[in-house]
Order: sequence, then structure tokens, then C-alpha cells
Amino acid sequence: MTAAPPDPAPTRLPTDRRAPLAVIGGSGIYRFLDDVTDVVIDTPWGPPSAPVSIGQLGDRTVAFLPRHGTGHHLAPHRVPYRANLWALREVGARRVYAPCASGSLQPHLAPGEFVVCDQLVDRTSGRADTYFDGDIVNHVSFAEPYCPELRQAVVEAGAEAETRVHDGGTVVVIQGPRFSTRAESQWFRGNGWDVVNMTQYPEALLARELGLCYAGIALITDWDAGVEGDPSLPTVTQTDVFAVMEANAHHVRNLLFAALDRVGLEPGCGCAAATNGVVVTAPGG
Ligand SMILES: [Zn+2]
Repeated sequence: MTAAPPDPAPTRLPTDRRAPLAVIGGSGIYRFLDDVTDVVIDTPWGPPSAPVSIGQLGDRTVAFLPRHGTGHHLAPHRVPYRANLWALREVGARRVYAPCASGSLQPHLAPGEFVVCDQLVDRTSGRADTYFDGDIVNHVSFAEPYCPELRQAVVEAGAEAETRVHDGGTVVVIQGPRFSTRAESQWFRGNGWDVVNMTQYPEALLARELGLCYAGIALITDWDAGVEGDPSLPTVTQTDVFAVMEANAHHVRNLLFAALDRVGLEPGCGCAAATNGVVVTAPGG
């Protein structure tokens, strides 16, 4: 890694197919746009979860990458997060939306609804969670883990959505692949955290280290380990999560279409500046 001029990454795409916007699809979202060009990208961090699909949304070119692979063969702790964000930057992405399946920790957040998170708590362990793993020391700003402009665009888009979109919330990211115990879930809820997920970390941080804008959109699929005082609400199962994601895939897609159409292509936020001017160019340092 060395400090270098911005945007040094080579691309195999013609410049008119560079995609300034990107989506990382979560469980149940394995394709996003029709009539796409699939681009195989090899990165210094290994292969990404799948080829990157480049397609058009109106006059906007959008890249898509399914986080868990096209056949959902990658568990949350095995997702190649560094390769994924790197691959999206290689095709020109500067702004990334990341829908993700999440459990509700609070009674007012119901399955089928969205939470546009504004804070994150990391409870993962052992994941490769930085590009600064060599001789370069760089402490990026992460106090605000999500891009305010991407958040605003999706919240505004949510005003016209068929399902409820909550503005703000804290996601606690667990290591998985198991779900939480009832005690853990009660602890998370007692801390005031809103949803639980397995992939927002280190994805959000790695986007920040590359200077990319990033926003997580949590689709609530379940009540996690239940809601205290209401035994009628079932606890989470894998079958339920996948079923709710698939049943709501069109809501996810429609919300993203509206947000991608609305968001600016020239960032006016501070996400890129949070890298302290350091551009990651290769592993090892
Ligand atoms: Zn931003």
C-alpha cells in the first residue's frame, strides 16, 4: 500500500460502462437488473463472491454483486468482503447500497419493514476487516458509519414505498452463522439497539477505507429471539428468514430503484475524505 493519486485502479471495462453506483445484494437478492454484462474481476484480495453484473437503470449504470454468491454458498463469516468492495471500486463504483436481512430487536420494527441504519455495533470476531494490514497505519473516521447522502435518498424514496421505511437505527452485527441466544437478544434490545445482522461489519468499514459511500438497508425478516412479554411472536429460523427475503425481494428492488434514481452521482459528503487521503493500491504495504 502506498499513498497515490486518486482512482489508480485499472479497469477491464470500457469507460462508458463504468458504474458509479453499486448494490451488494443480500439473502434472496441474487440478481438485480436485466440485460447485464457480467464482469469477472480478480482482486489482490482473492476473487469476489461472484462476477460483477453491470446494467442500466435508466441513464445510470449500476453494478451489482450478490454478497453470498449467486447460489448462496458463502456464509456471513466466509464472505470475501475485502475482495467484494475492491471489485466494485474496480468497475468505478463510488456509492454502494447494501440491503441485508436483519432481525428485529424492538417491538415497533416488524418483519417486512425496512430500517435505514445510522449506527453500527460490531460483535464479530476474526474477520479480515481492514485493507491496512501492512506497513501503512491509517485510522479512518467511522463515527458515522453510513453515508448521509445515500441514507437521505433511500429515506426519501421510502416515503413512496409500499412498505414502511424507518429513518435511523442501530444494527448490531453478530458473527454467526448461528442466531442469537435469547439472553444475547435481550441484552442487545436492552442496549437500545434496533436490528441484528451478520454482514454489515466489516462491509461498511471496508467501503469507508476505500473512500466509498455506503448505506445499509435492513429488511426485517424476523423477531430474532422473540420479543419480551409477547410469547406469541416466534423466534427466528433460517427457513423464515429466506422466505421473508424472497417474498419481499420486489420491495427491496423497488426501493433501491427509487433511491438509485434519486441519489447524486457526485458525492457532497465526507466519506472519501475519511480515508485521510490514503488510497489503497495493493495488499501487504
Ligand atoms: Zn458519502
